[in-house]
Amino acid sequence: MKLKGLLVKAFIPTKVRITGTLVAYFVLCRRKAWLFYWGIGLERESELVALGRWLSEEAYPKERHEINIDNQIVMDWVDSYNKVIHEVKRSRSAEQAHRWQVKYYLYYLKRKGLDGFRGMLHYPLLRRTEEVHLNEADIEQIERCIEEIARLVQQSKPPVAERKPLCRHCAYFSFCWV
Ligand code: SF4
Repeated sequence: MKLKGLLVKAFIPTKVRITGTLVAYFVLCRRKAWLFYWGIGLERESELVALGRWLSEEAYPKERHEINIDNQIVMDWVDSYNKVIHEVKRSRSAEQAHRWQVKYYLYYLKRKGLDGFRGMLHYPLLRRTEEVHLNEADIEQIERCIEEIARLVQQSKPPVAERKPLCRHCAYFSFCWV
């Protein structure tokens, strides 16, 4: 099945470019999502992204990595035959956000007419995998999330920082708290 070259349908009612990473950050912290969207502190974020890419390629060297659709979603790799999209993560510290990132990929594919996919989250350092599915309630939640993200990133300032456990591991820690 060819994933590229499909017609882009205007199913995301916003000019905001909503990526899987942006959805994951929105789930974690709205301030983080705003800062990421506007490219603030991107250098540190880029290091983490590069580390994630390295882990994915090291752990699964036979796969063709970084499957980019419309510059909107970038999946670690796709098994088109079995209809599985794969995403590799370093740790489970943000597993809820990881799930929503993969659900967003499934949603995006579905809206392009690529139905019947499921997701697989891989944590190679922990030797764990988790299957991810998209249901009707998830679709409603993702569509609400898209609207909220569009509103959020059009605000002139980021939301005020609120201390939470994940702040200690966040790329924006010094920006928010030092
Ligand atoms: S350091 Fe905390 S408040 Fe600041 S962006 Fe990260 S998670 Fe959000």
